[in-house]
Amino acid sequence: MAARTPEGMRGIAAVPSYVVMQPTTLCNLDCAYCYLPLRAADRRMPVAVAEAVAASVNPWSAGGRFSVVWHGGEPLAAGREHLAALLAPFGPDVEHHVQTNATLVDDAWCAFFAEHRVRVSVSVDGPRARNAERVTRGGRPAYDRIVAGVAALRRHGLPFSALAVVSRPEPGLATELYDYFLDLGCEVLGVNIEETEGVNTRTNARDAADVTGFWAELVAAWRRDPRIHLREVEWSLRYAGAVLAGTADDLLPRHLDPIPTVGHDGSVVVLSPELAGFSDPRYGDFGSGNVLTTPLSEILAGAGRTPWVGEFLTGVEACRSSCAYFGFCGGGHAANRYFELGRFDGTETEHCRNSKIRLLEGVLEHARDHQ
Ligand code: SF4
Repeated sequence: MAARTPEGMRGIAAVPSYVVMQPTTLCNLDCAYCYLPLRAADRRMPVAVAEAVAASVNPWSAGGRFSVVWHGGEPLAAGREHLAALLAPFGPDVEHHVQTNATLVDDAWCAFFAEHRVRVSVSVDGPRARNAERVTRGGRPAYDRIVAGVAALRRHGLPFSALAVVSRPEPGLATELYDYFLDLGCEVLGVNIEETEGVNTRTNARDAADVTGFWAELVAAWRRDPRIHLREVEWSLRYAGAVLAGTADDLLPRHLDPIPTVGHDGSVVVLSPELAGFSDPRYGDFGSGNVLTTPLSEILAGAGRTPWVGEFLTGVEACRSSCAYFGFCGGGHAANRYFELGRFDGTETEHCRNSKIRLLEGVLEHARDHQ
């Protein structure tokens, strides 16, 4: 681990690297682990919200790469016509992404992605049996519809990323998953251990050896055939290399990325998209403002004054002074603290044990076993 206290992640940057937008609250699936509170309701984002966000984003995008991530609900449930109207105010330097369950992807959607240069990330948890938690609103398995959507992307030659949720890490699973995603044809894979968040109150306490073993096995599978960019593993290896080179402190951004999530109604929640749509007697609705009344740039400039955000920044400093993994993790996510600990100034959560501490330990375990 880095010997001196890492200096990054102090306060919140005024300009984000991306914005998350919610074109609709609706999702056509009803996955057992979903955190979204309003996924059965179709509350669509008015075009005026997109116009207001674009007024801040377009100048930011002129300075370099800038992304808008359309995240729902299920963003494609907004329909092509409405999504096109929401994309229209953004300038040519803005890169658009959708995070989709792929069940609605067909030839017409593929043509839409190509025309609007939208990058696609598909949520799929591995082979059929690993998707048992992913069901339609009628309770039927969604797997066949997910792979039909992926097949359409491949038919059209559209590159895509994949995001898999792992609920029960166990021996053999990492190899099975990696082989599956090699066959699926994704370019990038992200792996999330299920989180206790939002309306998903299932515990995410897992056996430490199982989780560390899962990550170590995933590195081994990837090293045999590293055709996919494996997000968590590449990021861990980059950190381990930087520690050895004495440059680990250069990896963390100087400030926290505000990652504004703009809800369907224009409300802005910073740092953790998972807090959007919730409220708490102590923290209110977690919002920092609404783009229909205040420019996004102005909302972000004042985000540090949002009461829960100040508490979170205290928690980040507590992580900095107490946790050996801070240089790798940067202080974790606000939503994990809130939904696990009930407040924002705590430190270790089950999420950070599963997805930061044991991830790094798994990568080091793999390195030790293959010296
Ligand atoms: S691993 Fe956990 S305790 Fe350590 S810095 Fe990250 S969030 Fe904080």
